[in-house]
Amino acid sequence: MSIYEKSIIRVSHVEESTDLLGPYNRFVIWVYGCCFDCEGCLAENTKNGTYEEVETDALAKRIAKSSCEGITISGGEPFLQSNALLNLIIKIKEQRDIGVIVYSGFTLDELKQDDEMSLLLPNIDILIDGRYIKELDDNRPYVGSSNQIIHYLSSRYTNIGKAYYGANKRRAEIKLTGTQAILIGVPSHNVLKTWQDIKEKSGGMNNDF
Ligand code: SF4
Repeated sequence: MSIYEKSIIRVSHVEESTDLLGPYNRFVIWVYGCCFDCEGCLAENTKNGTYEEVETDALAKRIAKSSCEGITISGGEPFLQSNALLNLIIKIKEQRDIGVIVYSGFTLDELKQDDEMSLLLPNIDILIDGRYIKELDDNRPYVGSSNQIIHYLSSRYTNIGKAYYGANKRRAEIKLTGTQAILIGVPSHNVLKTWQDIKEKSGGMNNDF
């Protein structure tokens, strides 16, 4: 199902260091493009905003040299670019050990049934799966709605994951970069409301990831 070539990833945004989207210090990639249309999507910018075409080799080198423990890949829909992401992860792992967390709108069962997308699964330590369903958004930390499941696909984060994902509050931050403000993490209902007010007042100039 991957629609792009193996050596290029369409990227909306990257953050070199955050602990808001998985345990430890993570390099986060928000890929561009999504095949879903969830009402209340928290990442509209990854569907309708701008993007860069980034070479997997160059991104792999940059990530391998960074101090992150692991990467988190979100979007948008990462599995639309599963070939390129598999290539990226292999290239990073040729250079050093790294943990991999992926947020996807597909469910794990749907991914397992797809010959191409399923090839990425053995390279993922944690998969957080399922569409965002606004009516099921219950303020649970690190997921958008209660149908989404945190799947431990390897033992890498089993121990720390229980404490990390068992937190009782959502965490998000607003980061200022030049003329833009960026929302990172899964926001609580209160923070989301504030963020939407800011966007409205600024004429939609901000991004959300
Ligand atoms: S899967 Fe994620 S990015 Fe895609 S429409 Fe749903 S909430 Fe938005």
